[in-house]
Amino acid sequence: MSTFDINTITRENVKTLKPYSSARDEFEDFDTAQMIFLDANENPFQNGVNRYPDPQQNAVKAILAKNNMVKSSQILLGNGSDEVLDLLFRAFCEPKVDNIISLPPTYGMYGVLANINAVENREVLLSTDFQPQVEKILDAVNENTKIIFLCSPNNPTGNSFSDESVVELLQNFKGLVVIDEAYIDFSEKESWLTEIDTYPNLVITQTLSKAYGLAGIRLGVCYASEAVISVLNKIKPPYNVNELTQQRAIERLKDSDKIKQEIASIVEQREELLKVLLEVSFVEKIYPTEANFVLVKVDDATKRYDELIAKGIVIRNRTTQPLCENCLRFTIGIPEENATLIKELKLLK
Ligand SMILES: *Cc1c(COP(=O)(O)O)cnc(C)c1O
Repeated sequence: MSTFDINTITRENVKTLKPYSSARDEFEDFDTAQMIFLDANENPFQNGVNRYPDPQQNAVKAILAKNNMVKSSQILLGNGSDEVLDLLFRAFCEPKVDNIISLPPTYGMYGVLANINAVENREVLLSTDFQPQVEKILDAVNENTKIIFLCSPNNPTGNSFSDESVVELLQNFKGLVVIDEAYIDFSEKESWLTEIDTYPNLVITQTLSKAYGLAGIRLGVCYASEAVISVLNKIKPPYNVNELTQQRAIERLKDSDKIKQEIASIVEQREELLKVLLEVSFVEKIYPTEANFVLVKVDDATKRYDELIAKGIVIRNRTTQPLCENCLRFTIGIPEENATLIKELKLLK
């Protein structure tokens, strides 16, 4: 078991950084409703958004903390999880020195962000059944490896990673293990959130972009130990989550029945599509899925992709991804869209 030390993995300049103190940071403990704010050069005439937003998004975090049984101090919010992931690079990975490990085929942003931040991306392929190859991953680790990115359920494959492999990595790697749970709400498996007090090197990212139906507002969530969150807080842009986003997120999070209904409908439609795909002549393999999409191996992915485009249906061709030759990814739509897709699939020869 290796020991995790936040100080050895944090970049030197971040450790010594004095964060920007915004006008809105300084009066958290006052009864602000009674005060006159002449400190931030805002336009004083009220229109709902004339003031800077809460830099700590306390109202949003309070709901997430309650729903997930964590402390607000274990949460960081970002402009989509893409910003959260970028902050992890900027806090912990020294450009041109450190490296991260990602496990293709997976979400492309880990590699893109590594490139943007001049951090080496060590790629260790998933096994043919799309599970992490733990020994090979640990072999790829050196003293400059700061983060291992696990995406579970994984995009584009749809499966989640075995508990044993995740635990092995958490126990044997002394950097951060980030589990991207963008699709966790479509899975019957539990989130790794319950383990953040057990593993100080565990970071979980989630998003309101998928199951929560708010891709347009850009809100990503990071859960981790207070030590990790406080480092990220030091470097985040002060007003990274805007007022409209905070308001819409609060509204939506309160409507948990509606969210549950929509997820149930998507899962039902997914099972429907899976049944039909079994009967489609050019389908060669349907990969197990715990997400709101399904990866399917076909005879000729580019041909089938083009045929569906001609019918006005846009799916994702993943054939160029490692281990995904001739694979298509279908996102689950509303019942009417799914019915149209099914009708067209049955017509293709
Ligand atoms: C869609 C997706 C996200 C979402 O990113 P946002 O920036 O929050 O919209 C994150 N991770 C994975 C694996 C995804 O597929």
